[in-house]
Amino acid sequence: MSARILVVDDIEAHVRLLEAKLTAEYYEVATANDGPTALAMAADMLPDIILLDVMMPGMDGFEVCRRLKDDPATRHIPVVLVTALDGRADRIGGLEAGAEDFLTKPIDDVMLFARVRSLTRLKLIIDELREREASGRRMGVIASAASRLGGNGGRVLIVDDNERQAERVFNELSLEHRPVLEKDPEKAHLTARGPVDLVIVNATAKDFDGLRFAATLRSDESTRHLPILAIVDTDERSRVVKALEIGVNDLLPKPVDPQELSARVRTQIKRKRYTDFLRDNLDHSLELAVTDQLTGLHNRRYMTGQLNALVNRAAHGGDPVAALMIDIDHFKKINDSFGHPVGDEVLREFAVRLASNVRAIDLPCRYGGEEFTVIMPDTRLEDAHRIAERIRLHVAGSPFRVANGEEMLTVTISIGVASTHGDDDTPEALLKRADDAVYEAKSGGRNKVVASAA
Ligand code: GH3
Ligand code: MG
Ligand code: MG
Repeated sequence: MSARILVVDDIEAHVRLLEAKLTAEYYEVATANDGPTALAMAADMLPDIILLDVMMPGMDGFEVCRRLKDDPATRHIPVVLVTALDGRADRIGGLEAGAEDFLTKPIDDVMLFARVRSLTRLKLIIDELREREASGRRMGVIASAASRLGGNGGRVLIVDDNERQAERVFNELSLEHRPVLEKDPEKAHLTARGPVDLVIVNATAKDFDGLRFAATLRSDESTRHLPILAIVDTDERSRVVKALEIGVNDLLPKPVDPQELSARVRTQIKRKRYTDFLRDNLDHSLELAVTDQLTGLHNRRYMTGQLNALVNRAAHGGDPVAALMIDIDHFKKINDSFGHPVGDEVLREFAVRLASNVRAIDLPCRYGGEEFTVIMPDTRLEDAHRIAERIRLHVAGSPFRVANGEEMLTVTISIGVASTHGDDDTPEALLKRADDAVYEAKSGGRNKVVASAA
């Protein structure tokens, strides 16, 4: 999986070294030598990852990172700070500036590529969610709502059999979160299926294999999206790499530093809330995309997609498809006499009567305005005609109670019926025949069902 990486360092030799390493692994690399240039390039090329030197004259790496995270257009790009010192203050400052991770110079190749791989994977998920979301709604609204999501008050599950360490982590997190401690991985797995924001697992536990536990969470559908923070011994390089390969989101070196713990936990929780938010919005916008908001019936877009598939099948020797086109009679008069809101009530009540008078396999939809369609798979013209007649009677047979029960309106409808024939029929032609039949029903006096003779 390739990625576009922006490398930022004021020392040209450092930039070249990283560029050479990354290019050799087929990553696309762009470079910048100072903060302002880096910010302009980030906004322009929207890289997948930014490797950012901390110590630069003028604007330092912390400041660049803060600005990247403040800008909704670049906020989601993972930033890895590269520092010459293994200084604790630098790590904390960087995490507080919103950086996702650290690499220490001289850069260890194995750690570099493990990091880049894991961050690329994460970025890919976020991009996909953002993209699908952007097609459904305006990004600005999403971004500003998402930026208000905090990283505290999270439910954190600690899975550790090292009592002293677990207790320290628990106490530290109690200050701003709601931690739960579990020594047994099987019980922890059950807890993880509940409302949990983050799992912290000790990868060097004595009585169980922490990485196996992480892998179990990743393969379980209900815990797949949970962020995992692994406490590791950084001297055990192969296990560190393994952890990232399994899909652990972040690492915490032993011995656990309380401030680093709290900064990394906050970052993970905030990120989880952001992806949850995007995911929820996505579900909602997918539903919006296929549903008519006034009546709750399927909308025209959804109907068209279904009809295309069904007619195509029918044209290739599959079952016949029938379509009803329904138009409410003199609907304009209802609006004119009682007002638009009463008109809306009539549409809603009609939708209920319609939906309760078709079969489970039929697809009632709002075609637009006061026109509705019912798509009937595997249905011949005669059967569709019979069902249409039943719908007509159910509408005309009893008045609609509207305006808080103050008005009783008699509503009638005209229905055109058509079904597929031949192997060159198209959805458009089918709907046109149904529509012509409605026209005939209207001119024949309304409150009628007419089957297309064509
Ligand atoms: P006909 O019997 O020939 O079908 O007459 P009609 O009055 O039903 O048909 P026409 O197409 O002239 O008018 C349809 C009206 O439906 C016009 C439009 O303002 C109204 N309408 C369309 N969508 C809505 C809606 O969502 N709510 C309400 N209340 N009215 C709507
Ligand atoms: Mg009409
Ligand atoms: Mg009408």
